[in-house]
Amino acid sequence: MTELSPALKQATPVLAARGEGVYLYDTDDRPYLDFTAGIGVTSTGHCHPCVVEAAQRQVGTLIHGQYTTVMHQPLLALTERLGEVLPQGLDRVFYVNSGSEAVEASVRLARHATGRANIIAFQGGFHGRTMGAAALTSSGVKVRAGIGPMMGGVVFTPFPEAYRWQCTVEEAVSRALAEFDQLLVTQTSPRDTAAIIVEPVLGEGGYIPAPPAFLAGLRERADAHGILLIVDEVQTGVGRTGRFWGHDHAGIRPDILITAKGLASGFPISAIAASEELMSKAWPGSQGGTYGGNAVAAAAALATLDVVEQEGLVTNAAEQGARLAEGLRKVAADHPVIGDVRGLGLMLGNEFTRPDGTPDAATAARAHAEAAEAGLLLLTCGPHGNVVRMIPPLVVTAEQVDAALERWATAVRAAVA
Ligand code: PMP
Repeated sequence: MTELSPALKQATPVLAARGEGVYLYDTDDRPYLDFTAGIGVTSTGHCHPCVVEAAQRQVGTLIHGQYTTVMHQPLLALTERLGEVLPQGLDRVFYVNSGSEAVEASVRLARHATGRANIIAFQGGFHGRTMGAAALTSSGVKVRAGIGPMMGGVVFTPFPEAYRWQCTVEEAVSRALAEFDQLLVTQTSPRDTAAIIVEPVLGEGGYIPAPPAFLAGLRERADAHGILLIVDEVQTGVGRTGRFWGHDHAGIRPDILITAKGLASGFPISAIAASEELMSKAWPGSQGGTYGGNAVAAAAALATLDVVEQEGLVTNAAEQGARLAEGLRKVAADHPVIGDVRGLGLMLGNEFTRPDGTPDAATAARAHAEAAEAGLLLLTCGPHGNVVRMIPPLVVTAEQVDAALERWATAVRAAVA
């Protein structure tokens, strides 16, 4: 009998049969509040009627319009629609299928555009599992271990982690920027440095928002040295953080923006956006792929963007995120094992620590399992796996947030008992 490879790891024991809105149902039709959203993907909820309708219509019209062979209407329409939400000046876009592919495409683009090789990435950052993206990833060794040598030209520098460094956010920013400056005089000359790649909220690395002053500091340094700033919005984009883009919180402009996950509510599509000037330096034919910009995925993305706008989901993410954060802080106040609650919008993490401040992955794992038992699906993250994260669909209601908080409180009580 053929079975799934042990190379895969499943976070919960649930066998999903169907999904509707914020709920997943198992094969016994037991409902679960899905606060994983398929790792931040089902932004409009499971099977939003508008997304379903758009995809179904497209399936019966044209499934695969290979976009380096022929162009098709859904992709042209999506590109025009993205123009309404992309940062000003980032008006050239191309598409691939996943976050990892988009990350690799952005590196290829940055190297072409600058003629430089090196990429600065952050400790704790996650950019994917393909070989190039894994080379930029340091959120946990499982992505890198045993597969080296990695792609060359990557240097890592610390991300400001005020909680773990036990300092103020301002101190963390100064320290991280000082380390960054040191990197430019010790490890990678600006003349060799093509790009900086950064997540507006460190995701898999533990749900740590980048302080606005940090992103502003990176923008300044990029400008000073002709280095490109790649903002990886794979997890933070399309309203997740309570603003349309995660970097909007800092008011900075990326040179290259990558978006994926929430863009099409579950259909595989990712986009890379940059200025015309920058894109014109890409070698013709250097980007693309057989399935990139799939017509059904493009139609689903278009419908997703419509739903996000029409249902005010960015504002809802901010409002429900604030409600969820407040409730999580109350649970943490009753349970000192939760040392920190942090995040932006509907991207919130609960860091479990022992009294001496060291990571408590065992209690986090118990709370995560107890939550699933109580009907609340969650994920963990962080290098030590001691952060329990919540990323519900952006359509989540106040009642569903409150129901999740009740289950979370029950789960944490059981985990520490
Ligand atoms: N970048 C970020 C910030 C991510 O969170 C992820 C996925 N968790 C990726 C890249 C990789 O995306 P994918 O799994 O679609 O390749």
